Amino acid sequence: NAVQSGTPTIFSKIVDKSIPADILHEDEECLAFYDVNPQAPVHFLVIPKCPIPMLSSATKNEQVLLGHLLLVAKITAEKLGLYEGYRIVINNGPDGAQSVYHLHIHVMGGRQMDWPPG
Ligand code: 5GP
Repeated sequence: NAVQSGTPTIFSKIVDKSIPADILHEDEECLAFYDVNPQAPVHFLVIPKCPIPMLSSATKNEQVLLGHLLLVAKITAEKLGLYEGYRIVINNGPDGAQSVYHLHIHVMGGRQMDWPPG
């Protein structure tokens, strides 16, 4: 299935610039861009350039990269003025409601979040 096969996703096309995205941050390892269907006044995604399908696929080899993604999430949230806080989410697999099988960190802010989520 798509989870195991490593089929290129829409996010690989954003990485190789064959489809556009509203990019907030780019470096050698990752990209941050606005979510096309925002669930908060500010909603962006941080993705690795290499197509790790999901958090479950990550190994010790990706430890530094995973840390980098989180720091880019934080730095980008601060650049966007989310000083009162924000929410980080990683949807993992079918039960996690993951729809795009290229690892991504959601960052949402600009409103009061509810807890627990649905
Ligand atoms: P998931 O449910 O896999 O955690 O989240 C995938 C996210 O990617 C969704 O929030 C969806 O709105 C976003 N998304 C899907 N396709 C595109 C796209 O082509 N461009 C952008 N910017 N976001 C997308």
